Amino acid sequence: MMLQVRFKDCMVKIESDEIATQTQITRQKESRVNKPEVTRRRFLAQVAMAVPAGAALLDVAVSNTAFAQDALPKLEMTDPTAKALLYIDDATKVDKTNPMAARHTPDQNCANCSQIQGKEGDAWRPCAIFPGKLVASKGWCSVWAKKA
Ligand code: SF4
Repeated sequence: MMLQVRFKDCMVKIESDEIATQTQITRQKESRVNKPEVTRRRFLAQVAMAVPAGAALLDVAVSNTAFAQDALPKLEMTDPTAKALLYIDDATKVDKTNPMAARHTPDQNCANCSQIQGKEGDAWRPCAIFPGKLVASKGWCSVWAKKA
């Protein structure tokens, strides 16, 4: 089908398939307008909202970890495993007469042991050898190995 349209002083002939094409283009433009797109601005706004929320969650997680660490009991020197490994909460008092403590030197303590965990500088910290307990940073046991 062909349409003839007078525009100002000239006659324009339009084939029907061109009309269909124009209709499709119009529909595509309308659908783009109505369709929610993830624009750069929207994406950045979402990231801006997500980052503080994530940071707050991380902060809670870290403070929970710190709280969990503070809530751990201190390792007693009477604990059977502690006794077996000659754990002592003051490395200056290591019994050097015990053959298992013969290799102890004055510079060795829990704070510079490879098994120590938790925050540097804390007086009591978790230890991989005694899970669920805190050991004294000034302590020592026969498992001591220099922290890398
Ligand atoms: S393994 Fe290391 S940190 Fe743990 S109690 Fe023994 S010396 Fe201290």
